[in-house]
Amino acid sequence: MAKIPFTTGIGYDVHPLAVGLTCRLCGVDLPFEKGFVAHSDGDVAIHALCDALLGAADLGDIGQLFPPTDDRYKGINSLILLNEVVDRLHTAGFAVGNVDLTILAERPKISPHIPEMKRQLKGCLGNEVQISIKATTHEKIGCIGREEGIATLATCLLIRQ
Ligand SMILES: [Zn+2]
Repeated sequence: MAKIPFTTGIGYDVHPLAVGLTCRLCGVDLPFEKGFVAHSDGDVAIHALCDALLGAADLGDIGQLFPPTDDRYKGINSLILLNEVVDRLHTAGFAVGNVDLTILAERPKISPHIPEMKRQLKGCLGNEVQISIKATTHEKIGCIGREEGIATLATCLLIRQ
């Protein structure tokens, strides 16, 4: 059977928040008194996106590619990880069609930053890629609703070249 011309992937990530750390989402540092506790910069939006892209190409997951035990990734800007993932997709013969993210955060307010987030992602994915970034609160329930963490869901479509 011929390989299918399109593949889809799904990604999810969550990181805890603590006071005084940087809150970076899609490569943008947001004004917020809390930030992510993580080995890298904790950019959950990019991590979920990387997992969706890797999943669609069946190339493993972000934890396998960039192990948290490896000191090279300590505090790393996740845009660098996304660039590496995109390189691997291209090498494997895939182009990105679209990506769609939903950020789950009680605070800070995400929507004012979405245009700059899209610009940052286009810098890695390419201008021709359709990028959607949405945000929702958790209605004050659960760990996200209590502002203990922020999570992101991501999907994508890849085109086999
Ligand atoms: Zn992560």
